[in-house]
Amino acid sequence: MKIGCTCGGIIVDQTDSLPNKAYVISDRDWHAFWDQIEEAMKASEKHGYSYQLIDQIVDPSQQAWECQDCGRLFLTKDGSNMTDVFRPDDGQAKKVFDRSGFATRPTPQEP
Ligand SMILES: [Zn+2]
Repeated sequence: MKIGCTCGGIIVDQTDSLPNKAYVISDRDWHAFWDQIEEAMKASEKHGYSYQLIDQIVDPSQQAWECQDCGRLFLTKDGSNMTDVFRPDDGQAKKVFDRSGFATRPTPQEP
C-alpha cells in the first residue's frame, strides 16, 4: 500500500514494524479490548490455548501513518480504505509513531 501525501511525500506500507505507522485504539474501546484478552486468557487456562480464542478477539484499532516529510497524519476511516488527514501547524514531521513501549519494559521472568 502507498499513500500519496499532498506535500509530494509517499508513505510506503509494504512491511512490518514501520516507524511511521501505528494502530490507534480509541478510549471508548480500550477497556473492552483488554476485557476480551482477559476472557481469552481465562478460557485458555480452562481449555488450553487455541487460535480460535485469538480469532474471537475483535481488533478495534484504526491504522495511522505519518508522512515523514511534512508530518501529516493519515487515519483510516471506519470500514473503508479512505483516510482522514491531520496536518501539524508547523508542517514538520514529529516521528510520533517512532517509538516502542516494549523497548522500555523489563523482560518477563519465568516463574
Ligand atoms: Zn507530506
